[in-house]
Amino acid sequence: MTTPAGNGPLSAVSAATVERLEGTDARESNVAAGKALGDAVGTTLGPKGLDKMLVGSSGTVVVTNDGASILDRMDVEHPAAELVVDVAANQSSSVGDGTTTAVLLTAELLSEAAELFEMGLHPFTVTRGYRRAGETAMDRLDAAAVEVDPGDDARLRDVAATAVTGKWDDDANATFADLAVRAVRAAEADGTVDLSRVTLRPVAGGSVDDSALVSGLAVDMESSSTSIENVDVPKRIDGATVALFDRQLTVDEADAVSNVSVDSPETLQALREYENDAYAATVAAFRDVGADVVVCQKSIDDPLRRELARADVLTVERTRQDEMHDLAAATGAELVASLDELSPATVGRAESVERRRLGATDLLVVTEGGDAEHVSLLLRGGTRHVVDEVERIVEDCVHVATLAVENGRVLPGGGATELHLARELRDVADGVGGREQLAVRAFADALEAVPRTLATTAGVDPVDALVELRARHHDGDRDVGLDVGAGRPRSMAEAGVLEPLVVKQHAVANAEEAANALLRIDDVIAATGEEGGDEGPGGGHADHDHGGGGGGGYPWAIGH
Ligand code: ADP
Ligand code: MG
Repeated sequence: MTTPAGNGPLSAVSAATVERLEGTDARESNVAAGKALGDAVGTTLGPKGLDKMLVGSSGTVVVTNDGASILDRMDVEHPAAELVVDVAANQSSSVGDGTTTAVLLTAELLSEAAELFEMGLHPFTVTRGYRRAGETAMDRLDAAAVEVDPGDDARLRDVAATAVTGKWDDDANATFADLAVRAVRAAEADGTVDLSRVTLRPVAGGSVDDSALVSGLAVDMESSSTSIENVDVPKRIDGATVALFDRQLTVDEADAVSNVSVDSPETLQALREYENDAYAATVAAFRDVGADVVVCQKSIDDPLRRELARADVLTVERTRQDEMHDLAAATGAELVASLDELSPATVGRAESVERRRLGATDLLVVTEGGDAEHVSLLLRGGTRHVVDEVERIVEDCVHVATLAVENGRVLPGGGATELHLARELRDVADGVGGREQLAVRAFADALEAVPRTLATTAGVDPVDALVELRARHHDGDRDVGLDVGAGRPRSMAEAGVLEPLVVKQHAVANAEEAANALLRIDDVIAATGEEGGDEGPGGGHADHDHGGGGGGGYPWAIGH
């Protein structure tokens, strides 16, 4: 799907054309906006989900199957839709997976609510029923989760791979899952994973299969010259002292050259001497503080690199800003902008610093020593687009593997858990008096959108699939979901389709809260530019009861 600016599926319900909507109109407009988003990302769900191509107004193209990235880049104009986008952003930042599920569930809850309104239910009855259903669902999720042995790497790989199946081919996914599990293991101590010890390092070029795990902090040296005529640049330095230079390392020629016309051999000679002295002084400045590794954010003059190499200093130039900061964190060095700032306090230390070649990539690998074990995942892919997508995928793998290690509890995927919850909710609904019962049932129906959508993307008739799956659950096979590869029901534990409990909990809770927040709104007022001016866009009502989506840069207030 293509969503150029302002031309997305929401333009039909764009708030820009409306000044004030009340009661039923407000609710209808909000429901339509939420549903539109659900439709936009719903078909990306699961391993057979389709990719979306996003075209930015400036012509940039992103191809992805990741619900959060899609919503992140869509030009959403409706204030209610912004609330739904928040659901995805929240899901993505808190647990790193389950974004499409959360948005799909929100949209389904809104759809079901629209039907209940048509039947004459009051919004409060619906939101109360949803709240009750949400609470019951949390309770049942907790009861249904099973422990995963934290030492079972194969199971952890299953969990990591489930989070990203369909985003790449199976072999690559297995590689990503394996890399993520190894990284998480390395960063784990006493059941807690310290993700600051894991660095994802996307490097464009090469093939996805060349992605690898490197012990230590890896810095890309691709844009640094590594050869100098007649001098050997040191390859490895143990017990290194590291200086991080934030500017270009060059001889300041301004004074020396610009005022001098090189009109005689003598002036030329003087100039050379000036330069040589300046280079020698620079080398001395680094040596004085004991630096034997110099990493520079910009370029280093060739003669200076040669002099530094002669003094056994390992130099790296044109290092990216983010890598400079990673190096600062790893070595304790401070970024300095002039030689004057060099001091024993601004240089850092490392157990070892080594230039290494991995496949087609030149790397600087820094190991910190002590307890701090750092690992870098070097992610490769032919183009920037490809590595960026690889990075998103591996990030998700790392995130869920972390959740599985730290929380240790998982649930079957493939719609099995949603079917189980739906069953439980229908049981509970029988005991709920009055019309609220209908809302609890509607919640159960909304949950079944997950297996239904998975069936649709897999090319299986969703009605047949649901009937069969429900029958299996009726027989007590709680972990049976849809194996989308085979297109039939199967034990998800056997198929290795497992998801962290935390992901499901967040998805269901997020969806319930967002749907209820939207359903409670019965008045949408366009605030004028001046009104919002003092406090920033949308800020004026951000603390209002029902103004959950008040922030976020939209010049609208959502109130009751
Ligand atoms: P989300 O953004 O919600 O994580 P995904 O596109 O990752 O969306 O799809 C997740 C859904 O796909 C989950 O319900 C998960 O159980 C299901 N799923 C993943 N792998 C499989 C598989 N091999 N067979 C069946 N379902 C799967
Ligand atoms: Mg996922």
